[in-house]
Amino acid sequence: NGFTARDIRLIKVFAIQLGAAVKKAQLYEQAITDGMTKLYLHRYFKQRLLDEIKRAARFKRNLALIMVDIDHFKLLNDNYGHQTGDEVLKRVAGILRKAVRTHDLPVRYGGEEFALVLPETDMVGAVAVAERIRKTIEKEVIEYGGAVIQKTASFGVSVFPDCAGDMDSLIKAADVALYWSKEHGRNQVTA
Ligand code: GH3
Ligand code: MG
Ligand code: MG
Repeated sequence: NGFTARDIRLIKVFAIQLGAAVKKAQLYEQAITDGMTKLYLHRYFKQRLLDEIKRAARFKRNLALIMVDIDHFKLLNDNYGHQTGDEVLKRVAGILRKAVRTHDLPVRYGGEEFALVLPETDMVGAVAVAERIRKTIEKEVIEYGGAVIQKTASFGVSVFPDCAGDMDSLIKAADVALYWSKEHGRNQVTA
């Protein structure tokens, strides 16, 4: 009996408002993240990358973009099934999430391709990050559905403003570097 009827009416009004705000925040989180990997989605990546490039330009800072593509992933699906493929995607995503700092952005770019946006990072720093992640993925032993799997990934790194002056060219530059890694033996980082 600690509350009067008036108190309870007031609390209910607050509860409805608060509930709506929490629900809205949850829906926003769902809209920008990929359910399977818990990484940011492509659309949010584009939006944030544009903002980060503007900020880097204004404060005359570097900004690095790392593109990651798992090697021979189709073969894994074909040999072990898509559920095992999904498990590998989750594990690689977990490695990416753990590898970056608070202000970095780990993204599921599409399928088995990922991106990392690293504000305030130059080429030397970004290549070091990519190399560290490459080694971690290579060493990761994934046991799933009776199979023991080890995968590798290829990396491409570009830096604003050294490699490109706008978002599309920055993505293109990282992509070109990634394809160089693919064509020269995979499981490597190309600047
Ligand atoms: P490469 O070394 O040249 O990158 O070869 P790859 O086989 O990894 O490249 P490719 O792009 O040909 O294959 C990507 C495969 O990823 C094809 C597609 O079926 C698979 N894939 C994409 N999204 C998912 C997913 O969410 N789950 C699973 N299990 N597979 C996926
Ligand atoms: Mg691919
Ligand atoms: Mg691939």
